[in-house]
Amino acid sequence: MKIIFPPFSRVTIILLSLCTLLPVNNFAQKAKPKSAVPVSPTAAATPTPALQLTYELSFPQPHTHLYEVAYTVGNISAPSVDLQIPTWTPGSYLQREFARNVQDFVVRDSAGNALKWEKTDKATWHVTTNGAKEIRASYRVYAYELSVRTSHLDASHAYFNGASIFMYVKGAINQPLKLKINAPNGWQTTSPLALAPDAKGYFSAPNYDILVDSPTEIGMHRVLEFDTLGKRHRIAIWGEANYDEATLKRDFAKIVEQGATIFGGTLPYEHYTFILHLQPGIGGGLEHLNSTTCQSSPNVFKPAARYQGFLGLIAHEYFHLWNVKRIRPQALGPFNYQTENYTHNLWVSEGITDYYGDQLLLRAGLIKPEEYLQSWASALARYEATPGRKIQSPETASFDAWIKYYRPDENSVNTAMSYYDSGAILGMLLDIEIRARTNNVKSLDDVMRLLYENHALPKPGFTDAELKAAFEKIAGTDLTDFWSKYVSGIENIDFAQYFAKAGLRLVKGYTPSINDVQGQEPNRGYLGLRLKPGSLVVGSVLSGTPAYNDGINVNDEIVAINGQKIDAATFNERVASLTPATSATITLFRREKLLSLNVIVGKQVPDRYSLLQNKEADANQAAVRNGWLSVK
Ligand SMILES: [Zn+2]
Repeated sequence: MKIIFPPFSRVTIILLSLCTLLPVNNFAQKAKPKSAVPVSPTAAATPTPALQLTYELSFPQPHTHLYEVAYTVGNISAPSVDLQIPTWTPGSYLQREFARNVQDFVVRDSAGNALKWEKTDKATWHVTTNGAKEIRASYRVYAYELSVRTSHLDASHAYFNGASIFMYVKGAINQPLKLKINAPNGWQTTSPLALAPDAKGYFSAPNYDILVDSPTEIGMHRVLEFDTLGKRHRIAIWGEANYDEATLKRDFAKIVEQGATIFGGTLPYEHYTFILHLQPGIGGGLEHLNSTTCQSSPNVFKPAARYQGFLGLIAHEYFHLWNVKRIRPQALGPFNYQTENYTHNLWVSEGITDYYGDQLLLRAGLIKPEEYLQSWASALARYEATPGRKIQSPETASFDAWIKYYRPDENSVNTAMSYYDSGAILGMLLDIEIRARTNNVKSLDDVMRLLYENHALPKPGFTDAELKAAFEKIAGTDLTDFWSKYVSGIENIDFAQYFAKAGLRLVKGYTPSINDVQGQEPNRGYLGLRLKPGSLVVGSVLSGTPAYNDGINVNDEIVAINGQKIDAATFNERVASLTPATSATITLFRREKLLSLNVIVGKQVPDRYSLLQNKEADANQAAVRNGWLSVK
């Protein structure tokens, strides 16, 4: 997943899951604990016939935002059945409590008699079957949150992300199922489940994981199609925008081809669906097994820099089809849909995916090497300006995603470091290191291929140790020191050392200012606070800075510096004009009180980085650089 607003993200699909294989008459028992090793469907005795699972989704009044779900469960032999709805959706690591949108639950036997049920926890409906072989549960789901992680229904379209809509029979998530969608007249359905439903109008899925990994767009959206590497690709677009259809298909195809090239030139799916929501005020994407949903502003197609950012989102989500949907940490599949699924490795699943998102654009010629270098230089300036990098390692950031990354607050900058950013940096460092050690014969691509060979679905995911071993095998060296410093640890990274191996120099300078004196290094004042956009209200105070040490707080509203009124537009210039190591009087409102604080002004550190080519690079360094930048 990629978050452009709040966090988004990714899901993994599980073809094999343990609890699936529970005999039907065990429904009322507690699910077996998750095992580290998926069990083959043939490994457990399942004498009881499989359940017959059929969903019917209707929305006769789309403007009410209410989906109507009828869930028929047949072939029951148990006295009771537990129906559950997920508390989270794979790819987005936050407890979203989808049950809160469920209403009007009723359950009947095949003769229409109401059956007894009770909620036994927030997401479980315990149904007494009363001897019925078949039950039909009906409920409605309110769907009016326009994000890739949820579902949205209004008069213009229906979009569902299955985890937020569909219940499952506890203990039976690995059983095959059918889905019928009753759409209003004139609306078409675009689902990754199949290019079209069967003759009777049903889509099929081999298990619940596939169902909820198949986001579906229903409405009067535009569908573009292109074939690449022998596979059909569809782009389903809800919303109007100034895109050129031929350009979009051509650029998406380039991304597809570059991704496939890394993994041997073939695509591990029969068809792939890009669902695009183009509406004001939304952004981000969520990956799926053979699809993605991406949201963006309608004006993202021009100018070129903005369009590159959009293609970066597409490439990130697309690359996930390998990295996290198939190659994934052991904890991310089989899923437990009722609780947090913890892993230390979102820095791989998200960060290295982010690294490859831009790499795919570079390799496809959709961004230029100099643009790629500047993007990295800016990313490193942001990284080094984040105090949280000294608190959260990539591994701890991954593990605490559920309570940190997906629940950001005003103190996040001080205590958290995005595993997207730190993971992409680790991917870049390791790519350069491997290329340097092998004279550019091997690269991070080889690590991804090795992980794919050994851990792609349906094989079990990788452990922490297996991940490190894969990098060491390709790099041909022990990476324990690297891991303890930068993966598990929070040590400062010597970027210059790594870029030197690629014949590059990281140069740190300053964003130009009207107060600069030609030929002199800027001597700018610095407070260490960030304002909320367009206001003078403090949004965050960076730890260890003058503002932090001298008592400026989040939500203080600054009104004057050294007795002079300030405004939001010129605030940064005013701060920069202060003389470092002198005292400044900051006047502010804190709640209803007017206060003046004396702050010892700091000195601004370089904030604008550049990556430049070292003209004296030797042959090996030049080979690494050209390989990394895809310069032929
Ligand atoms: Zn992602």
